[in-house]
Amino acid sequence: MQEQHADTQSSGGAPSPSKPLCVKCRLHEGTLDSRSQLVCRDCFSKFISAKCVKQVGIIGKDIRNPGSGSGAASQKKKYVLGLSLGVSSSVLVHLLNENVEYQLAKGRAAPFDLTVVHVDSSSLFPNNGSSSSAEETLDRYRKRYPRFEFRRVPVSDVLNLSTVDWSTLLPPSDEKTRPENEQQLSELVDRLPSSTSRTDILRLFTRHLLISATRQNECHALLLGHTTTALAELTLAETAKGRGFSLPWQVNDGPVAVVDYQPAADEPTTSQIQIYHPLRDLLRKELVTYATELTTPPLVSDLAISISSHPSSGPSQQVVSHKDLSIEEVMFLYFAEVEENYPSVVANVARTTGKLVRILGGPGAAGNEEAEDEDETTANGTSDKKRERCGLCSMPLDEQGDERWRGELGDEDVHQKEGGKGRICYGCERSLRG
Ligand SMILES: [Zn+2]
Ligand SMILES: [Zn+2]
Repeated sequence: MQEQHADTQSSGGAPSPSKPLCVKCRLHEGTLDSRSQLVCRDCFSKFISAKCVKQVGIIGKDIRNPGSGSGAASQKKKYVLGLSLGVSSSVLVHLLNENVEYQLAKGRAAPFDLTVVHVDSSSLFPNNGSSSSAEETLDRYRKRYPRFEFRRVPVSDVLNLSTVDWSTLLPPSDEKTRPENEQQLSELVDRLPSSTSRTDILRLFTRHLLISATRQNECHALLLGHTTTALAELTLAETAKGRGFSLPWQVNDGPVAVVDYQPAADEPTTSQIQIYHPLRDLLRKELVTYATELTTPPLVSDLAISISSHPSSGPSQQVVSHKDLSIEEVMFLYFAEVEENYPSVVANVARTTGKLVRILGGPGAAGNEEAEDEDETTANGTSDKKRERCGLCSMPLDEQGDERWRGELGDEDVHQKEGGKGRICYGCERSLRG
């Protein structure tokens, strides 16, 4: 993939007779490996953009569909993009900018407004850098993509959210209903039993904050930079953690329920938000090639993207032994290798999740009316079906499944939440109590 022949840089040049031609255009020299085919730089770039543009088109159609939002058809579309400052989400920003520029150059209106939100975890996880360095990095993005708005949101802002049932996170003995300040939040995170738990909770907080930003800005959808590879990693990591039941809601595109535990309300209310993964058909290594070799100036240097460390940069960056790796990091290392040698395996894991959706009766399950209605909400935003959801990850509770997991893992000391406290799924319970 990283062939550095002296002449790989000149894409359009006439090929010398001994050099292989690009299998797609048959015009230029094939210098890059694209799913076991040798292609030229132009064709590789077009392949990347086309995959993204196709998904963005699907989002546009979904949102135009009446019933997916009130009056959305007449308004300009507004999206929020979650930016981790890693390769995938950065490439997504770049491709969406290209898409907007292309439309404008054709004399059309910009197809959407984009607010890019970076959740800055440095206050809770000092290993993840500092807030000033995050702000400096964001300035690089602002300079390169002036059409988009870039915002930094400190992870401690999660304290203000009522979409987390805070009672589930505090020990049963605690009188408080939620952590009151950053110090208490930080203590709560420090009490978690492992680096997997801390990575997990950071991921959930980040998700809650991105959903909140999408709702605050009255945006039509939240876009995430997950590649095929990242979705496959998430699939296996979540299954390993006993949260496999919720995969359809995490990995599929479309509506996801958001529960609001407003302190004043008697019962939590449920609304929904659209979440999409426009890079779901691309492999991470393809985006690395794109970001290092096919953009000018290269995204990696221009935006100071680190491609060697784990993109979700969990709290355990200084790895002492394998024991200290979170499940996510193990999956990352595993798929980095699989992706290199067997890219189709990665795609298969992601595709299998789609099949599981149907087997488990998740959204889109054929003939499963109840599941179809699962995330349906009425006009005033409350759900007809009062299905119980996890107070932490918002995923539907799977009563039987959770019992089965407990039994199989010999987990007899079931943590029964008392009347006043909310309930959490088996995966979150494992995360919190180890
Ligand atoms: Zn070509
Ligand atoms: Zn949960």
